[in-house]
Parts: sequence; structure tokens; C-alpha cells
Amino acid sequence: MSNIANSFGMDEALKQLGIKDVNHGTSTGSDNFGSGPEISSYSPVDGQLIGKVTTTTQADYDKVMDKAQAAFISFRAMPAPQRGEIVRQFGNKLRDLKEPLGKLVSYEMGKSLQEGYGEVQEMIDICDFAVGLSRQLNGQVIPSERPRHVMREQWHPIGIVGIISAFNFPVAVWAWNTALAWICGDVCVWKASEKAPLCSVACQNIIADILKENDLPEGISCIINGDYKVGEMMTTDSRIPLISATGSTRMGRIVGATVAQRFGKSLLELGGNNAIIITPTADLKVVVPGAVFGAVGTCGQRCTSTRRLIIHESVYDKVRDAIVGAYGQLTIGNPLDEKNHIGPLIDKDSVNTYLAAIEKAKAEGGNVLVDGGILEGEGYESGCYVKPAIIEAENHFEIVQHETFAPILYLMKYSGDVENAIGKQNGVAQGLSSAIMTNEMKEAEKFLSFAGSDCGIANVNIGTSGAEIGGAFGGEKETGGGRESGSDAWKVYMRRQTNTVNYSDELPLAQGIKFDL
Ligand code: NAD
Repeated sequence: MSNIANSFGMDEALKQLGIKDVNHGTSTGSDNFGSGPEISSYSPVDGQLIGKVTTTTQADYDKVMDKAQAAFISFRAMPAPQRGEIVRQFGNKLRDLKEPLGKLVSYEMGKSLQEGYGEVQEMIDICDFAVGLSRQLNGQVIPSERPRHVMREQWHPIGIVGIISAFNFPVAVWAWNTALAWICGDVCVWKASEKAPLCSVACQNIIADILKENDLPEGISCIINGDYKVGEMMTTDSRIPLISATGSTRMGRIVGATVAQRFGKSLLELGGNNAIIITPTADLKVVVPGAVFGAVGTCGQRCTSTRRLIIHESVYDKVRDAIVGAYGQLTIGNPLDEKNHIGPLIDKDSVNTYLAAIEKAKAEGGNVLVDGGILEGEGYESGCYVKPAIIEAENHFEIVQHETFAPILYLMKYSGDVENAIGKQNGVAQGLSSAIMTNEMKEAEKFLSFAGSDCGIANVNIGTSGAEIGGAFGGEKETGGGRESGSDAWKVYMRRQTNTVNYSDELPLAQGIKFDL
């Protein structure tokens, strides 16, 4: 362990999470892993090796799938509220381990410690939500057009849910899926991001203990490790009826097509290109923290990060100056140290993508207001710390049309009515999160109407990031159309069945069709 990691108690945190032998750079507590080559997890915080995880081979994968298939047969027969009880216990264990798990998220992924704890809190929240839901997987009774017939709709467990997740929410995305899938009676196989494998090992250790304590088969929760090739084992496997995939649009395009080819279902949670519209009546006290947290939180590596500010020309100078001023107060450094607002990017590839995006924006005519660049010197040895940048740009610039997963904020003006701003906001290929800052009721309602924001998430007087688990989470267009977490998102994890029961002595046909024998 490095000095930084030691001084923030990482060694102890890893022990509490059952991740062993990290000092020797070898892995992990659980045996539910593969026999393939190792992948190493380096922290973007200090560039040090945290641990190694063995990858899953095809033979390992087939063993995992056998376990999952067998577990499904028994788990689906358990009453849903009893499955909820397992999720309740899991949520309580997460409460106990919030501190070490939050620390690991921060150290392995690089987000601030507060955001690391927040991510674990989201896991706890979705567990609570799922426990209640385990008594509400209600179907409905539908009036039949035929005498002495009854129609109803019921929901059955779907089977094995394959989860593919991104690096930036290395624990919460898994929990959004699993907490719901488990109460629905499904079992899960998870391929986490190859960039944050130890977070998945920690999660697996936590749920493995709960399953053991309850004498339940470990196949209810499985993990497999590796890069996209391991993900492909699941996407091409017709034993998996639902693939829930979170990541880039590039990945979703391939995964969606592969799963569709075998008539599987996919739940896609892909990239965003999120904007805040700032109208003449917007309150700067709300705008500045909303926009700045949205743009630099998690170092711009949230799917809901604010990428564009669309500002009315009448308040443009005032808003621009306030945002630029706020950037001057940001502190960048070790995310485990709570005095810092911003940690590192995930790796050097990401740093290069960020630098290239700034150059491209300049080449397209962008005007740099706050310069970016790599931070060097003491505390920045990992080479992954960058300065958040602000660039005046036009919506049609090619670089603005793309999601760059880094802290680059584009500012642009609109004139006239709010419809002009909404046109710009919608004028990108992605459709995840959006917001308007206004004190005009009509503007807010227009933004939320059928002719308003085309995103899955549309907020008024709060920023684009930081969703609560109670709402359905996801977006339209190239964001993939999936919905996870709250509201009725549970339905995707189940198989809908319509039943018609005839309790008469006749056989009348629907639509009054005559068929006399
Ligand atoms: P990524 O697309 O590079 O990888 C995501 C996951 O997909 C990884 O586990 C990877 O191994 C796997 N994968 C990649 N190609 C695959 C293939 N062909 N078949 C099977 N699996 C494959 O994304 P990333 O860099 O880890 O994460 C950043 C991206 O994720 C951003 O675009 C961000 O907006 C998006 N994201 C979206 C949401 C959301 O809810 N909409 C949430 C978090 C992140």
C-alpha cells in the first residue's frame, strides 16, 4: 500500500471487505473467479497497484452459468417477500460497510470520498426500495368481453440477468439491477468494468456472506471478470434473457444488436450529453452550484455530467463570470482528502481523450475561458489529474455533439424564447439528462411538456446530475432507452403473462367469431 492509501486507512478498508494479500499485489477473498490471466487494478489516485484479479475463461464461464441456472430454479420458488428479506439483510450489511466500501470506490475509481459514500448510500436506498417492492409485484385483473371469463396479468421471474457495468459507478449500478432482479426472483451474473474490478470483488464478498448465512445457493449472485470479450460471452448466450448494459454508446450499439439477434431483451444505459438552460429569471444562487457540481463532480465522469450551458444572451455575461469565478475556487487532488472537490480521471487514456477534445474544440473555433491541462508535481504523480476547462462553443461543433468523459464545459448563447434553447438542448444525439433554471412557470412547463426536453430526465431549478433512486433512471435516443431503479423499472426484470380463464360451460370466441361444429 502506498503512503497515501495507508494514511487514509485503505489497508484496513480492504481487509474489512475481504480483499486479501493486497500488499503482494495478488487478489481477493472469494473463490468465485476465473482461471484466466490476471488483470491489475491501479489506483488513479496515486498510480499504485491495489490488487489483481484473475479473469474468466469460457470454461469458467460455463461453470458459473451452470450454478446460476441451478440457483434460479430454487430461488424463483421462494416467496417474493422472503426474497425481500435477503435484500433487507444485504442493505443492512452495506450500512455496516459503507465506510470501507465508499473508500474503495474513491481509491479505485478516483471520485471524491463524499461521492464514494454517496454511491454506497444509493445501494442502501435501492435495497430499501426493493424490500418494499417485494410485496408489490402486483399484476392486474382485466374485464373480459366474454361471459363468465376473467382475464388477468401476472409477472414471473425472467431468469438469469446479465449485468455489464461501467467504471464510473463501480458498485451502485450493480445494486440498482440486482436489488430489483433478486426480489423479482431472478439470479444475476455481473461483469464489472475491467477498470474497477476490486469494487466488484468487494460487493460479491458482501452478498456471498448473506447468501451463506441464509443457506442459499451462491449462484444467485455471480461475478465474472475481464474485458469486453468476457462481456460477449453473456451477450451471445441465449441462456440469459436479459442483458442490462451500462457504458458508452459505442458499446451499447454492439451489445444491443448482439442481444437482439438472439431475441434477448436488453436494458441499455448509455452516454449522455446533458445541458442546463439558463433563462433570464434564473437564480444565480441555484445556477452556480448546480452547474459547477454537474460539470466537475466525479471529474466530469458521470453519465449525467453537465456538458453544455445554454444561456440567454441577456444574462450571458453575468452567468459566465459567476461560473468562471467559481472554477477559481475548486481544489483538485487526492479524492480521499475531503478538502478536495475533484479527484483524477480514471486513467491516462482518458487524460489523452480530454486533451484531444480541448484541442478539437479550439480548432473548431471554440474560445477557451478556463484553460485545461494536466497537473504535475507532488500529489499528482499518477498523471491522471486534470484542470476542469470552460470553452465558449457552438452546439453544432462536432466535439460538442460528442460525449467527452472529462470535465469540459461548453458555454453557448440563445436569444429570444425558451423554445430556441430547447431546440439546442435537444439538438444532440443523446437524450439522458437535462435541466432548466427559471422562475417563470410557463417556461418551466414548456420545458417539461411533450414539445420540451426529449431526455429521460428533465429537471427544474436543479442540475443534471444526482438522481434519486425513487424515479426511473435512463434516457432516450443514443442513451439507449433503458430505465433502471425506481418507479416501475422492476417490470423489465420480469416476464409478463396474460391469462384468460373460462369458468362457463360454453366456449365463446373473442370478437364474436362463430365456429360451430
Ligand atoms: P465502456 O463502454 O467502455 O465499457 C462499459 C462496459 O462494457 C465495460 O464493462 C466493458 O468491458 C463492457 N463492454 C465494452 N464493449 C463490450 C462489448 N462489445 N460486449 C460486451 N461488453 C462490452 O464504458 P466506460 O468507459 O466504462 O464508462 C463510461 C460510459 O458509460 C460513458 O459513456 C457514460 O456516459 C456511460 N454511463 C452511462 C450510465 C447511464 O446510466 N446511462 C451510467 C454510467 C455510465
